[in-house]
Parts: sequence; structure tokens; C-alpha cells
Amino acid sequence: MTTNRREHHGSSAPGRAAGAPARHSHKYPPSGPLVIDIRDLGRQPGAGRDVVTQVPAPADLGLELIKIPQDSTLELDLRVESVAEGVLVTGTVRGTAVAECGRCLTATTEDVQVNLTELFAYPGTKTDETTEEDEVNRLVDDRADLEAVIRNEIVTELPLTPLCKPDCQGLCAGCGERLEDLPEDHAHELIDPRWAALREKFSGAEPGGDDHDDS
Ligand SMILES: [Zn+2]
Ligand SMILES: [Zn+2]
Repeated sequence: MTTNRREHHGSSAPGRAAGAPARHSHKYPPSGPLVIDIRDLGRQPGAGRDVVTQVPAPADLGLELIKIPQDSTLELDLRVESVAEGVLVTGTVRGTAVAECGRCLTATTEDVQVNLTELFAYPGTKTDETTEEDEVNRLVDDRADLEAVIRNEIVTELPLTPLCKPDCQGLCAGCGERLEDLPEDHAHELIDPRWAALREKFSGAEPGGDDHDDS
């Protein structure tokens, strides 16, 4: 349990608990569309509030090949509730990811919805002292920054190989066109290039048929 975390437990000298809690290296106070200010709950267990709103998506919300574009709409449907040592954030976050189909390369979109159940602990509580920050989130200046939490959930939810539809046929190996756009009897006379060269040689035909112009 004594993983050596940088800023937080970096100097894990005994008696650290007696000193002032180290200030995390987050921006302070946290701000942005995914930061929920919970000062109005007054640290009263049971107090709660709905957070139902639309916010612009932060950058890098997803993977390289599929992501929710920055500034596109994220729909938050959350409940924030004060609990003994922090606040509990529950609910859903929805957005629309864009991607290229992994088989046919067509641009495609995918609705993504994730469920959150996240505890944010106040500094100085038992939870704060007995858990790592990657186990339980921390409130910073009575604000819950949801960005990392939402990013983690969404990245987990996104398909590694996005498809325009589950049974996408992909591309024709002969011409690279989408098979779905081609007639059913579409086919190529597939000739191994080595055989083609031999055939030309023995038939005495001019190599290639293209009229290149060597001047
Ligand atoms: Zn496709
Ligand atoms: Zn083809």
C-alpha cells in the first residue's frame, strides 16, 4: 500500500500526518466546465443537487482513432451528494464520438454513454489519508474535477476498432472500393503479377499496356 507517489506521498517520512496536508499539484482552484463546485452543499451529509447540463467536451476525449471531438456537446445527467468524507457523484455522461470505420474507412459516429459512481474525498479525512488519489478522487478547494474521471470511463467504453456498422464488408481487395457500394457480381480477374509477367514474355506482348511517353 505504500506506493511511492510523487507529489503526494513523495516524502513519506513518519509523522507526515501531523503536518499540513501537502497541496496537490493540480491547478488551483480547479476550474472548467467539468468542475463541480460543491461549496453550496455545506459539507452536510445528505445534502445533494442534480447537475443536468450540457458542456463542451475537453480535448483528447478518447483514443487516437475514435474520440469525442473537442467542444462538441457532452450531456451531463449527474447527482452530487454530500457524504461523510466527501461527495458522491453518480449519473451518466453522454457524447458522440467520431471515427473512421476500421474496415472501410468511412467516417462514422458512435453515441457513447458512461455511468459514473465516483467518490471525491475532502482533504484531511480518513479516506484521504488511507487511499491513493488513483483509488479515490480528491476534492480540491471543495470542487470536484470530473474531467479525468470522465476521460477514463469514455476511453474504456470506446470500441478499439470502430465500425460503421457491425457487419461492414470492408473494402474490395482488388480496387479498394467499399464492397457495399459495389454490385453483387463485382469481381476482378486476379492475376498474380509474376504470372502476368510470364504470360507477357511468352506471348511476345509488349510489357504493360500503358502508353507511357519516353521522350
Ligand atoms: Zn465500414
Ligand atoms: Zn473491386
